[in-house]
Amino acid sequence: MLWNPWHGCRKCSPGCINCYVYFLDRLRDKNAAEITKNKTSFDLPIKRDKHGNYKIPAGTELGTCFTSDFFIEEADEWRDDVWKMIKQRDDVNFLIPTKRIHRFAECIPKDWGEGYPNVTIAVSCENQAKADERLPLFLNIKSTRKIVFVSPILEYVDLSRYLASGEIDAVSVGGESYANARECNFDWVKRIFSDCQRFNVMFDFHQTGSNFIKDGVRYHIKHRDECSQAKKGEIYLHAKLSERPQ
Ligand code: SF4
Repeated sequence: MLWNPWHGCRKCSPGCINCYVYFLDRLRDKNAAEITKNKTSFDLPIKRDKHGNYKIPAGTELGTCFTSDFFIEEADEWRDDVWKMIKQRDDVNFLIPTKRIHRFAECIPKDWGEGYPNVTIAVSCENQAKADERLPLFLNIKSTRKIVFVSPILEYVDLSRYLASGEIDAVSVGGESYANARECNFDWVKRIFSDCQRFNVMFDFHQTGSNFIKDGVRYHIKHRDECSQAKKGEIYLHAKLSERPQ
């Protein structure tokens, strides 16, 4: 389930070139570069039904800010309210992905401490250069759980030195979606899987992307099939993130 308290983003990285938020907004005649507070769902985690119960049930895994970046500057004025809701819903797990981990220290609440127990921070690193820029920062932050998203994967990314630190709980790899998607080569995915096995880090291949190469053959995969193809047979390599130990 997803919660997008704000919408829209600024491109900041090679992985943003074919950003799906921009692609989908173009189809709806919207401008994804406009960053706006999402008025109808801003307070989604604390919305209640007519019986007074939360609409989002306890135990929900809530992907947070998947149509923007949680740490983007334009959202600074809204983020404190979001942290309050996240703290209030300590029975819900919030997964926060970002490419802007350099802003983490100035964006966390004062009582963050070692990290809120119900928050997982995920840093996206689509290539080696971005992994080497962002992951040294990521290793140094406090967070109850840390995930690396190699997504959209643009090349084999050697995460060995970061996995060896013991700071990374899981790695999730995915290919790029929609028009002009760059290729996702299954050989890169398998190498990252082997690296994770070597350091006993949870691994997930969450989607093939639309332009998938396996054993030298290129497959054009419809977006709706990208996840199921990734989970099929040999391609589904290891435990799902949802099976991770709590
Ligand atoms: S950071 Fe994410 S949401 Fe923002 S432009 Fe890049 S890919 Fe799109």
